[in-house]
Amino acid sequence: MNATVFVEVVPSTNPLKEGQRKKLLEDPGFGKVFSDHMAVARWSQDKGWHKAQIVARAPFQLDPASAVLHYGQEIFEGLKAYRGKDGRILLFRPEANARRFARSAERLAMPELPEQLFLDCVKELARIDAAWISQGDDASLYLRPFMFANEAFLGVRPSREYIFCVIASPSGAYFKGEGKPVTIWVETELSRAAPGGTGAAKCGGNYAASLEAQAKATKNGCDQVAFLDVVERRWVEELGGMNIFFVLDGKTLVTPPLKGTILPGITRDSLLVLAKEAGLNVEERGYSFDEWRADAASGRLSEVFACGTAAVITAVGQVRYQGGEFTVADGKAGEVTRKLREQLIRLQRGETNDSHGWVSVVA
Ligand SMILES: *Cc1c(COP(=O)(O)O)cnc(C)c1O
Repeated sequence: MNATVFVEVVPSTNPLKEGQRKKLLEDPGFGKVFSDHMAVARWSQDKGWHKAQIVARAPFQLDPASAVLHYGQEIFEGLKAYRGKDGRILLFRPEANARRFARSAERLAMPELPEQLFLDCVKELARIDAAWISQGDDASLYLRPFMFANEAFLGVRPSREYIFCVIASPSGAYFKGEGKPVTIWVETELSRAAPGGTGAAKCGGNYAASLEAQAKATKNGCDQVAFLDVVERRWVEELGGMNIFFVLDGKTLVTPPLKGTILPGITRDSLLVLAKEAGLNVEERGYSFDEWRADAASGRLSEVFACGTAAVITAVGQVRYQGGEFTVADGKAGEVTRKLREQLIRLQRGETNDSHGWVSVVA
């Protein structure tokens, strides 16, 4: 339907001075520092996708009636550009992000962005801002593609104008003291996603709906919140922004199945493949909070970890909920968690043989 849209590159006339950039890159944290450029493309009903450009990063001017501000028609993605030891710039499975973005758009009644345009924007941005990508195990350039409704109109129907944008943020470890296990709050009242809802789409609205539970987790001394299913309030689904895995008897990996209420994580999918190849038993099946507690008490539960692009793999050490708490095994990051994390990181950074064709060389 859409003819190929080319991305015009208009370099910034005022990029940050090298000294200032290097200073920011010393300890960028997560999502606080931004690179010099952004990708932007526009969609309108009569023109389709058009005016795709890489330009200097700058604020948008929005009409106060812009549809996104009222009804939240917004989706996003998250992927990282890495600098390998040989200096190459690599992306990990960006086609999977492009595909998921198209599926999220469909669920939010937005126009589909051609996968090639998504990939061209992401890659051109990583290339032009390559100086923002540092080497080192925790360093990467986090790329954030997103799309929002931008028609100035207060009626309730899909917008007739959209903006697609990609911004880039150099980042270090997602959690302070990465490697240190996190504490999880299991939320038994508030929910994130219901059957038939938008749980499998990567949309801002899901995050808005998870923030009160996240605040509750923080108030209870926890780093992250885990959600249960809405129907029975029994089955573990995922965290606010990460999928979850359980390791039983040191050799069986269990993760909840994708049934429309869980975000289909690319990290989750990659780990399922790597775990199978490593000879672990892999089970995508319902795992209840009762089972979780029972397995922790009996000692069957050897490890729990959460995974996603931003934090990669994070061990879960402690679990709290309304009325109790327990520790996962000895509360430390386990063997399976550490091995999978190491393997994935080395793969993403181009340090091991990429037998699946997951690594994409950008420059
Ligand atoms: C993005 C996201 C994940 C992780 O997905 P990855 O593709 O692995 O980064 C998990 N859960 C939610 C709710 C997410 O938004």
